[in-house]
Amino acid sequence: MQTRLQLAVQKSGRLLEGSLSILKECGIRIDNGKEQLKASARSFPLDVLYLRNSDIPQYVHDGVADIAILGENTVVEKQKPLEMVQALGFSKCRLSIALPKGTPWSGPHELQGKRIATSYPNTLRQYLQRHELQADIHEISGSVEIAPNIGLADAICDLVSTGSTLFKNGLEEKEVVLPSQAWLVANPQLVDEKKALLDQLLFRIQSVLEARNNKYLLMNAPDEKIADIIGILPGMKSPTVMPLATGGWSSIHTVIAEDRFWEIIDELKRQGAEGILIIPIEKMIL
Ligand code: AMP
Repeated sequence: MQTRLQLAVQKSGRLLEGSLSILKECGIRIDNGKEQLKASARSFPLDVLYLRNSDIPQYVHDGVADIAILGENTVVEKQKPLEMVQALGFSKCRLSIALPKGTPWSGPHELQGKRIATSYPNTLRQYLQRHELQADIHEISGSVEIAPNIGLADAICDLVSTGSTLFKNGLEEKEVVLPSQAWLVANPQLVDEKKALLDQLLFRIQSVLEARNNKYLLMNAPDEKIADIIGILPGMKSPTVMPLATGGWSSIHTVIAEDRFWEIIDELKRQGAEGILIIPIEKMIL
């Protein structure tokens, strides 16, 4: 029988959509009957297991799943020795310390002797140990942000992305304990056939991630400005320059990291670039 990789993803919640959409961009389609625990991909030897987020590290550690898409915060919290294969760039958030608005704050030492509510006790304990602090950790499984309001805790340690939940509950973020994003993780003892499949999957994922971060850039420019414009473009390979039907003008094409583009756009225009187009790239193989 053909070897198949077993990939665990979150059954429902914030990571699911991003996980399925990266698989889709990798050309891996899942036949997903809604209430299924397991679904098979047709175009790649891979089965998807839909599991509770907090159970996934244990399943990968036990070898029930070979690989998983998980928040880094969950990996750190569950303390299982998983291999961190690839950061995936979505579900970016941070585990942070927050206190009621207006509470004086001059640094982590303010947490000494305080009661801190969290769903991430192990990560918080490590943070307190790093700062040589003693505090009372109250583990609660959800709605941590209400703990200070009901007198259960002086501070919280919880996941934040925009900060709007903290704001609504009258809390202020003071310290980042752990920045987090989605990761592809693996059992460190995969057999060779599964490692080879993981390498194939990783190749596809990296092509998708490269493409997401880069854009195809085209612009027209007067011939006498071409050298200056090429000087501004951050070097990948040499850009393509093609003459336009209108004499004395050329079209310049290159690939550029999206964030770099915004840094140089004004300079490109100043140098005479016109008709600038930025086009998404579907896959990028370096
Ligand atoms: P949940 O869907 O709430 O079970 O969260 C699953 C995972 O999504 C967490 O372990 C984090 O890695 C990530 N996550 C949670 N909250 C946020 C947030 N506010 N913004 C982005 N990612 C988050």
